[in-house]
Amino acid sequence: MFARLGLMICLIVEPCVVCAGNVILMIGDGMGENHVRCATESRAVLGENLPVQGHVTTRSADSDITDSAAAATAYACGIKTKNGYLGVDANQKPCRTLAEKALEKGFFVGIASTDMETGATPSAFYAHVPNRHEADTIRQYLTQARQHMRIQVAGKSLLSETNALLAAAAESGKPFFIMLEGALIDTKSHENKLEAMKDALFDFDAAVRAALAFAAVRSDTTVVVTADHETGGLTPACVFTTRKHTGAAVPLWAAGVRAELFKGTHDNTQINHLIHGILFDNTRERPN
Ligand SMILES: [Zn+2]
Repeated sequence: MFARLGLMICLIVEPCVVCAGNVILMIGDGMGENHVRCATESRAVLGENLPVQGHVTTRSADSDITDSAAAATAYACGIKTKNGYLGVDANQKPCRTLAEKALEKGFFVGIASTDMETGATPSAFYAHVPNRHEADTIRQYLTQARQHMRIQVAGKSLLSETNALLAAAAESGKPFFIMLEGALIDTKSHENKLEAMKDALFDFDAAVRAALAFAAVRSDTTVVVTADHETGGLTPACVFTTRKHTGAAVPLWAAGVRAELFKGTHDNTQINHLIHGILFDNTRERPN
């Protein structure tokens, strides 16, 4: 209540440079630097409309090569955890996620992914399970989370899911946190299918463009685009060298309010801390 009043006063009194409350986090699963580079040979993707660029280091608590569960937990909770762990720390203690904190503060929270219903990346934002393969438990968390968050998983088109969530967020009139995942970049990289991977990346790029267009006409929204890990060991010559994940740093872009915070190299846990600051620090009631 007071936080929102503070935000409204801030909006009325001065140009809204420091009172952003909205973040759209977009994760291309398995999308490494060369995935983007190789796709760009066919069609311009990502970078061109995203002014701020950086990199994210991805190791998990127990491995140089993270899996999607530990990586998504780093983004969701800002902590290192073990591979396979979802929304819990390395001692299996549940951690509070950006989505849960945003909900508590009265935000609109939206999550969408092309991954299956129990996919690790979306689940890390609302489930707390030390085993990503416990599908039944994850489904229970999903059912519970759906009472308060708008969650669209196992969808066919990330673009239409993105548009639907952005419209719902705008309509809510609330500050918002949205997480969107393009899951097929990882799937096609595991299969070492270059053209299919590019198609998945083009679909992800279309959703990113929609988010950027949405944010461009507002003065209160930050778009952060990154990946959870690299998949396939793709070389600059666009040749896959493994069917597994690698420990390579992944690309990072940001646009919109306070995007410059994301410039340079960050650990995946720091991305959570930066988003946390944008979402919550600025909606505090101002002293004056
Ligand atoms: Zn994978």
